[in-house]
Amino acid sequence: MSARVLVVDDNQANLKLLKVRLSAEYFEVVLASSGQEALDICASSQCDIVLLDVMMPGIDGFEVARRLKSNPATHHIPIIMVTALDQTADRVRGLEAGADDFLTKPIDDIALVARVRSLARLKMATDEMRMRVVTSRQIGVPDPAENAIHDEGVNGRILVVEDHAPTADRIAAALARQHTVGISPDPQDALFRAAEGKFDLMILSLDLQHYDALRLIGQIRSLERTRYLPILLVAAAEQKARLLRALDLGANDYLLRNADKNEISARVKTQVRRRRFADRLRDNVTQSMELAITDPLTGLYNRRYMESHTSLLVTRALEREKPLSILITDIDHFKSINDTYGHDAGDEVLREFADRLRSCIRGVDLACRFGGEEFVVVMPDTDLGIASRVAERIRRRIAGEPFQIDRGERSIEVTISIGLAALHGAEDLPATILKRADEALYRAKRSGRNRVVSEAA
Ligand code: GH3
Ligand code: MG
Ligand code: MG
Repeated sequence: MSARVLVVDDNQANLKLLKVRLSAEYFEVVLASSGQEALDICASSQCDIVLLDVMMPGIDGFEVARRLKSNPATHHIPIIMVTALDQTADRVRGLEAGADDFLTKPIDDIALVARVRSLARLKMATDEMRMRVVTSRQIGVPDPAENAIHDEGVNGRILVVEDHAPTADRIAAALARQHTVGISPDPQDALFRAAEGKFDLMILSLDLQHYDALRLIGQIRSLERTRYLPILLVAAAEQKARLLRALDLGANDYLLRNADKNEISARVKTQVRRRRFADRLRDNVTQSMELAITDPLTGLYNRRYMESHTSLLVTRALEREKPLSILITDIDHFKSINDTYGHDAGDEVLREFADRLRSCIRGVDLACRFGGEEFVVVMPDTDLGIASRVAERIRRRIAGEPFQIDRGERSIEVTISIGLAALHGAEDLPATILKRADEALYRAKRSGRNRVVSEAA
């Protein structure tokens, strides 16, 4: 997962250190050495997470957080506050200013990576949701998930799996005002309850007396019904190796045993929010939305949706300096399929084509029926080289195996031609990329069909 992290600290040595650590985990890092600089960077460019030192001359961390959270353009960026050890008062102020999580100095490596990763996932889910809402608004359909953007992460249903009663009680007490909390000292009972699907988060002790918590994490991640349940660990500071193992196995974040209630509450909110976003995204294109944006024959997105969503994807690719490619494909001699086998057979071919196309692309790719027997796939984070491999895979998937029609009574050889083009820079527009892809498609048809052609270099 690559996210862009803005690190704000007035101390150059700290900046350097954090840059090295985060870069080693493949995060992109941007540095700011004052509050003002941080605000300028957030206003002018995209960043996914802000790691914010509290104590700075001039505009301090609290003020930066307050300003970011009160500006609609930056409100959604998660903030991790870096406070001095044991400054409970700072944490309360931090939460009031809008902090999403905390780290204490000196910053521990595992804590740093766990916090940044966890908030990067939340940010991605939020971005996805925000994009969807913008697109549905543009095409005049209300998105049932719109309210999710304002979700505060409270009223969660939380299961605490801990056989050390005082710790369980302390955690439950810290959460009781904002959430519904259940406690289960027995891991098998916990797994059973989790599988009933009534929880938004499991808080799991890493050192249960009679059971290996790592095994429980494995079980939760492998069961269909609990696969997506977030897990927040409770660990002791000296359990580093085990903690890392648990995070690798799929636990989402952790709390130290002595974490104060502000920290518990902040970390739980993050997980609850992400769980809800993820659920809503999984339900995805629901109800009314679905009808308005999909093509009834193939179930792919329709042209109207593609056109508005593509401009968003292009804008995002430019902001993040990521590549983006567009593929346009047209079934060869489709008219003769209709003429020979009938219009219904033609429809069957279109449906089967769409299924095969879907099986060749990623979930983040946007596939749509552009019209008649023409289809478009928009591929974020994909350069022309990779796109042509994808296109070739699709071409082979179609030409390699005949299409069955009339319930398997007959089979037809079908081929397609594909044109490809990539985003060239800030001056490029979705329509012009598409036009270049269409010219390439035309050349594919002219040079014999059943082939992939990329835009002229
Ligand atoms: P080329 O290889 O040059 O693309 O030849 P082609 O025959 O595929 O191209 P042409 O554009 O001449 O014909 C496309 C045909 O697709 C004509 C139209 O009747 C048919 N078509 C468009 N939409 C549908 C549909 O929803 N169902 C069916 N069965 N046919 C459709
Ligand atoms: Mg055709
Ligand atoms: Mg055509």
